[in-house]
Amino acid sequence: MTSEHALRLGTMPKSAIVLGGGVIGVEFASAWTSFGVTVTIVEALDRLVPNEEPEVSKALERAFRKRKISSLTGTPMTSVETTDDGVKVTLENGKELEADLLLIAVGRGPFTEGLGYDDCGVTMDRGFVLTDERLKTNVPNVFAVGDIVPGLQLAHRGFAHGIFVAEEIAHAEGKLDEAPEPVKDVEIPKVTYCDPEIASVGLTQAQAEQEGEVEVVSYDLGGNGKSQILKTQGFIKIVRRKDGPIVGIHMVGARMGEQVGEAQLITSWEAYPEDVAKLIHAHPTQNEALGEAHLALAGKALHAHG
Ligand SMILES: Cc1cc2nc3c(=O)[nH]c(=O)nc-3n(C[C@H](O)[C@H](O)[C@H](O)COP(=O)(O)OP(=O)(O)OC[C@H]3O[C@@H](n4cnc5c(N)ncnc54)[C@H](O)[C@@H]3O)c2cc1C
Repeated sequence: MTSEHALRLGTMPKSAIVLGGGVIGVEFASAWTSFGVTVTIVEALDRLVPNEEPEVSKALERAFRKRKISSLTGTPMTSVETTDDGVKVTLENGKELEADLLLIAVGRGPFTEGLGYDDCGVTMDRGFVLTDERLKTNVPNVFAVGDIVPGLQLAHRGFAHGIFVAEEIAHAEGKLDEAPEPVKDVEIPKVTYCDPEIASVGLTQAQAEQEGEVEVVSYDLGGNGKSQILKTQGFIKIVRRKDGPIVGIHMVGARMGEQVGEAQLITSWEAYPEDVAKLIHAHPTQNEALGEAHLALAGKALHAHG
């Protein structure tokens, strides 16, 4: 079944195989496990949530192991057959797995075939509509918004695209003084709602290193009082350009999605760790960990986890 079928399930299965360790796969694996389902994730790449920092994947895999969620990474699936009791899945390594159901959490793509794009001459790429940064297609007065535009597939990106295009048209018609700022994927916050949560914004360390030298700090939530109260483990990793602004913030731990708002202001406003280090963060909150991570990167570490 797909995620759409899974959301309509009337009862919980006893066991499930989740194909795909991306955002949707790990969210379902986490939620189903909370409901008592025995879950196995099958992922062809070598780690869960491969679009996040490698350390984040490692932390999630460790937390999932503790929750008895089995993650088979680097393990492509080759076939599936339905049995009297459920499904039998065969992996490339020859192993077979059985469960009540299989969730396909890979291969989400655009659904644009036959809708007339080609007839209008709109340039497409594998079903996606190509646009410039102002979301204009190659055909005058035709814009595209949301998931059909290549990039992050997130609801709030779609909202922002829609607002942008409405304002762009209003500006062209003289109803709005200022032209809107284009939506930049790099400024869009991402949250994966599994337990523990993952939240990030900006560039990964590897992406930032492609454009020059960087400095990095990883602040362990073990040094944060509220995270201890919540009995969660994880960290906040900050990437800055050497002697320059912060370009990426990556977090894992219970409720860390709630911290992504400040993280987004920091990266989008190109703050320096020294700027953020001056701001006082309330004690005891998890938000304090974000402040302390910046203190550490500014050379003024306060509570470190040994
Ligand atoms: C399981 C799951 C969980 C997700 N969780 C999150 C999350 O937590 N946060 C987040 O930001 N994003 C999440 N997303 C992604 C988010 O749903 C998408 O990014 C968002 O819905 C994209 O909006 P859209 O308007 O571009 O496309 P859609 O929401 O897909 O809207 C397209 C609409 O067009 C309709 N349509 C298609 N063809 C036709 C046609 N021929 N005629 C008329 N109508 C048609 C479709 O039925 C659909 O309603 C999740 C996605 C999935 C699958």
